[in-house]
Amino acid sequence: MRQFDYCMPSKIVFRHGATSDIKEYIQGSRVLIISDPFLYQNGTAKAIGGRLTGCQVAYFSDIEPNPSCESVDAAAQAARELGAQTVIGIGGGSSMDVAKIVSCLTTNEGSIYDYYSGGTRTFSPRQTRLICIPTTAGTGSEVTNVGVFTNRQTHVKMPMVNHQFWPDVSMLDPELTYTLPAPITASTGMDAFCHAIEAYWNRDSQPICDCLAVQAMKLVLANIKNAYDHPSDKQARGNMHLASLLAGIAFSQTRTTGIHAVSFPLTAEYGASHGTACAVTLPAFIRISGEKAQDKMTALAKTLGYDSIEALSGAIEALMVSMKMPVRLHELGVKEEAIPHIAQVGLSAAIIQLTPATMNEETVSALLRSIL
Ligand code: NAD
Repeated sequence: MRQFDYCMPSKIVFRHGATSDIKEYIQGSRVLIISDPFLYQNGTAKAIGGRLTGCQVAYFSDIEPNPSCESVDAAAQAARELGAQTVIGIGGGSSMDVAKIVSCLTTNEGSIYDYYSGGTRTFSPRQTRLICIPTTAGTGSEVTNVGVFTNRQTHVKMPMVNHQFWPDVSMLDPELTYTLPAPITASTGMDAFCHAIEAYWNRDSQPICDCLAVQAMKLVLANIKNAYDHPSDKQARGNMHLASLLAGIAFSQTRTTGIHAVSFPLTAEYGASHGTACAVTLPAFIRISGEKAQDKMTALAKTLGYDSIEALSGAIEALMVSMKMPVRLHELGVKEEAIPHIAQVGLSAAIIQLTPATMNEETVSALLRSIL
């Protein structure tokens, strides 16, 4: 009998115009909205803040992709100065991840470094409400207890898992993704596919997540190219947002695997966007997944319409090429001599051992060389 735990405590609101009644979901009247420069300048953050009539709303809009610990500390300072009772993250994974930790730091002293990656402090129970509103269809951060932060001094990007990072409310409105440019539609959409397949083949996989993951993969394969080619295609955007949500819930229980472990140095050291850094190794990880998940992966390939694991891998690579995504590491600037280092950094993330294949310096280096 399969044994597992499943916990997803966030309320999910998924509909067009999902944020229209956001005022019902906030706590108190002092609200900090965390977003990035694009979403502030194009009016998205202000439009949502404008619905909070009678509240004192402040904006912190400097979040950069792959947010740094320094950005977290600056946003936490803004939250403390306001005395924020609700923190809202509007954006991709970067803004939502910062909102998660800022909602904890609002009433906890010190810097992110005190709590993250070697820090010795733990958060007291979170008193600030946390609302996440995704504007990319990819990370699923709105339904996970994970935040990912980058130490700019050491160039180390690492996830932080904390049960206080589950948002109280996640509001998903596909319309917020219509402005995504094609390359970000592609990379974030393939990130969602990676989440789904990594939950599915995970050595800690479980039946509820398998269902969510398979449905998410079907939705991505059926809709990503339409969303890429036709940015305002309502059906494609809606289905991609749903795929991202389902994949997020799936991996929130299982964690991710080798694809994400290896993506961290590709982003921190080569500047690849998160989705690109994940997707570039996806076909290679699919090829080796039969080592310890042959039957399950063959069944997946057939469910998705392919004869074999190899055929699925080839189809994913062709899909990526059709969206002008890199499929070789040299396209990101990686050189042969860097491969042992990338393998080592990837192996330092514990999630890599959830991959359904032997993961050591030799096997990871061989995988990376196969796509150099
Ligand atoms: P992002 O938040 O870094 O944003 C990337 C770019 O997209 C930015 O320039 C932003 O302005 C732009 N953008 C966002 N929404 C837009 C829109 N609607 N229209 C036009 N442009 C828009 O991108 P992301 O891929 O969503 O997030 C990546 C981050 O999330 C990484 O740090 C990654 O490690 C993290 N992540 C976290 C989790 C989690 O569970 N917490 C899961 C996966 C990834």
